[in-house]
Amino acid sequence: MNQHKNQLLSAAVLLMSSCAASAQPSTVSGPHLQAEPFPLSQVRLLDGPFKHAQEMDLRYLLALDPDRFLYNFRVNAGLPAGTEFYGGWEAPTSELRGHANGHYLSASSLMYASTGNPELKRRIDHLVAELAKCQAALPARGSHPGYLAAFPESFYDRVDQRQSVWAPWYTMHKLMAGLLDAYENGRNAQALAVVTALGNWVKFRVDRLPVDQFQASLNNEHGGMNEVMANLAAVTGNPEFLRIAQAFNHQAVFAPLARGEDQLDGLHANTQIPKIIGAAREYELAGNPTYRSIAEFFWQRVALDRSFVFGGNSDAEHFFPVHEEARHLTQTTAETCNTYNMLKLTRHIFAWNPSAGSMDFYERGLYNDILASQDPATGMMIYFLALEPGWRKLYNTPDQTFWCCTGTGMENHAKYGDTIFFHGDRSLYVNLFIPAELQWPEKGVTIRQDTRFPEDDRSRLTIRAAKPVELAIKIRHPYWCAQPEVKINGAAAAGTSEESYLVFDRTWQSGDTLELRLPMELHAEPMPDDPSLVALMYGPIVLAGDLGGEGLTDKPTEIAGAFPVARIPEAIPLVPGLVATAADLLAHVRPVPGNPLTFVTEGIGRPHDVILMPLYRMVHDRYTVYWRLYDDSGWQRHFAAAGPEEARRQAAQARLLDEVWACWAGSETAHHLQAEQSRAVGLDNFLFREAAHGAFSWTLKAAAGQPMTLCVGYVGVDSPAFDIFVEGRKIAEERITRTRGEKGRTTTVVKTYEVPAALSAGKNTVEIRFAGQGDTGTARVIFCELSRTAPQTPG
Ligand SMILES: [Zn+2]
Repeated sequence: MNQHKNQLLSAAVLLMSSCAASAQPSTVSGPHLQAEPFPLSQVRLLDGPFKHAQEMDLRYLLALDPDRFLYNFRVNAGLPAGTEFYGGWEAPTSELRGHANGHYLSASSLMYASTGNPELKRRIDHLVAELAKCQAALPARGSHPGYLAAFPESFYDRVDQRQSVWAPWYTMHKLMAGLLDAYENGRNAQALAVVTALGNWVKFRVDRLPVDQFQASLNNEHGGMNEVMANLAAVTGNPEFLRIAQAFNHQAVFAPLARGEDQLDGLHANTQIPKIIGAAREYELAGNPTYRSIAEFFWQRVALDRSFVFGGNSDAEHFFPVHEEARHLTQTTAETCNTYNMLKLTRHIFAWNPSAGSMDFYERGLYNDILASQDPATGMMIYFLALEPGWRKLYNTPDQTFWCCTGTGMENHAKYGDTIFFHGDRSLYVNLFIPAELQWPEKGVTIRQDTRFPEDDRSRLTIRAAKPVELAIKIRHPYWCAQPEVKINGAAAAGTSEESYLVFDRTWQSGDTLELRLPMELHAEPMPDDPSLVALMYGPIVLAGDLGGEGLTDKPTEIAGAFPVARIPEAIPLVPGLVATAADLLAHVRPVPGNPLTFVTEGIGRPHDVILMPLYRMVHDRYTVYWRLYDDSGWQRHFAAAGPEEARRQAAQARLLDEVWACWAGSETAHHLQAEQSRAVGLDNFLFREAAHGAFSWTLKAAAGQPMTLCVGYVGVDSPAFDIFVEGRKIAEERITRTRGEKGRTTTVVKTYEVPAALSAGKNTVEIRFAGQGDTGTARVIFCELSRTAPQTPG
C-alpha cells in the first residue's frame, strides 16, 4: 500500500486562466520544418529486435477480429451486431468502448504502410465501410448528423454538464486518429469522408457551447482532440477545423506553460501530453510561436526533469514533484502511453530544431521503455513499467483487457520505421542505429543501414544511387559515446559537427559506404534526489538486475480485465543490494563473455551477486533497475531490519484477498463502484473518494465464511462521523482527525476493522459501503484492502 502514500494534486484544483496562445489563424500554413520524417512506406526494417517486435505485433493484429471491435458500434447504431464483443475496456459496459477500434485502425494502417501486408488492407477497408454504415444509421437513433461512436451521443451531454463519465472525447480522438491513419497510411479514401463528417459534428458540438462552459468541460480527459482536429485541417485544408482544434486547447494547462511555469505536479500525466502534441501541431499549421514555446517548455520539463532513467515518467499515472523520484519506485511507474506520446512530441521538437539532445531522449525511451513493453514471445504489452525493486512485468491478455496501453501498444511496434531517418531539403539525418532500408525516390537513392547495434557497436550505411547525388549525411553523435569513428569507403573521415550531429557533405556515388563505430561504456546514472540509488547503463541501454522467477511458476503473467496491477497476493523476495561506492561501482561490474549486453557484479552483491541484462530483455522474471549502494555496516543494518519486515510483508501479502484504489477509474470500475453524491478527486497530494452527503461502495473479493480484516487508508483531515457497512451490516462507526507529518504535511491514516465470518457466508465477494450519518458525509478514502484475518499468536 506504500506506493499511494504520496498521492498528488489533481487537475481539479487548477483554476481557469487566460492564455496568450489564442490567436485565430485564417489559413492552414505554418513555418518551414528543418527536418521531416519519411513516410513509413519508404522504410523497411531489417532483422533485429525491432523487426521481431514488429512481426509479433503484426501477428497480434491479424489474430484480432475487426468485427468484434465493431460490435458496440453496430449495437449503438441499431444494426445487427453480427458477432460477440471483446472484454476489458472494450466490453459493452465500459464507457471507453470503441477506443481500441480507433487504435486498431491506426495500428493496422501504420503496419500496412510498414509492411504492405494485404490482409491488413482488406481489414482497414472493411472496418471503414462498416463504420460508415453505422454513421449513416445513427441519425435515425436521434444522434446529430456525422456522429459516430460505440456509445450514445448523450455521453457528450454529460461532459458538457460536467457530470460523471469516463472520457468520451478521449475515445473520439482515438477513432478520428484511426480514420485519418486509414486515409493517410491505409490508403482508404472513404475514411476521409467519414472523419470529415465527424469533424463537422465535433464543430457543431463545440460551437453550440459558450466558450467558458466548453473550457470547463475540458477538465474531463480528452486525449489529443486539438491534435486530431489540426491534422484534419491539414488534410482537408479547412481552416474551420483548425479553429475547432484551438477551442480544445485547455487554457488551464496551457497558460502556465506559456509563461514558462511548471505547474504539472499532481496532474494526470497522459491527460496532458496529447494536449501538448496538439499545441505542437497547431504551431506547425498556424505559426503561432506561443504554441511552440508551450511544447518546448513542456518537453524539457517532462523529458529532462521528470523522466526515469528509461525515459518513462509519472507514478500511478500522475506527475509528482521533481526531486521526489526516490520515493516513487513503485509498481505503477511509467504508463506506457506516456512514453508513446512523449516520443511523438519529441519528433515535433526535433523537426523544428534537429539536435542530438532530443533524439538522445527518443533513443532512451524507444529501447528501454517501448521495446521493453512487449513480451517478445507473445506480442502482449504492459501498462506500467514498474520500478519497485523485485516487481515484474504484467501483460494484457489478447482479448479481455484492451487498456489504453494495449491500444498505443498496438501502434508502437507498427511504426519503428518512422524516426530512424529524417531529411531536410538536401540532408539525411541518421537518428537511430536500427537496421533498415530507406527508399528515397525524390533523390533517386536507396540507403541501407546494416547493424547489430546495440549488441555490436558498428553500423554500415550503403548508398545506392541512379546517378551521383549531393547530400549531407548527418549522423547523430549520441551523448553516451565519447568519440565516434567514421570511415567512408574504408578511409577515416572527420566530417563537421552540427548540433551534435556529425555531418558528411559530399557527392555520393552508388556503392559508397559509411562505416560507423560508436564505442559503448558502462556508466551509472544516479537518482537525481538520492545519489545512493543508481541505475546502470551500457551505452544507451538500461541494464536491469535479473532477480529470477522464484515463486512465479503458478502466477499469471497476463492480467485480464480492467486494472493493470496484479490483484493477486504476492510477496516479493528480498532484493539484493550492492556494497560499493559510486566511485568504485563500475570496477566491480564485468561483461559475461559470449553474452552481449550481459554483465555480472563481482563481489559487491549482497546477499549474492547478480546478473545484469537489458531491461528490454526482462520478460517474466523479477527485476530491479535502481540499486541501493551500501557500505558493509549499512547493508548489515538493512538486512537485519529487512528480515523480520520481509517476513511480515510476505505474511500480509499472502493474506491479501483484494484491494481497490479510489480515483483510478479502472480499479473503481472493476470493483463495481456505486456512488451517491460522492466524488473522486485529487487534493492536497492525495487521490481519494469522499461523499459530501451520500455514500459510496465497492465490491471486493472475499473469503467465504472466514473472518476477514478490512484495512482502509484515509487522508488525515478532520471528518464527520460516518459508518462502514459490509454486505449492508454496519461494522464500524469512524471519525478521522487531522494528522500532520514531516514539514507539517498531511499524512495517510490507516485503520483496520474486523469483518465477522458470518457476513461472507456463502459469498465470494462483499460490498464495502461508506455512508454519512444523516446530512453529513464521509472521510476521504484512498484505498481499501480486504485480507484473511491473521491467526492469533499464542500467548
Ligand atoms: Zn495507457
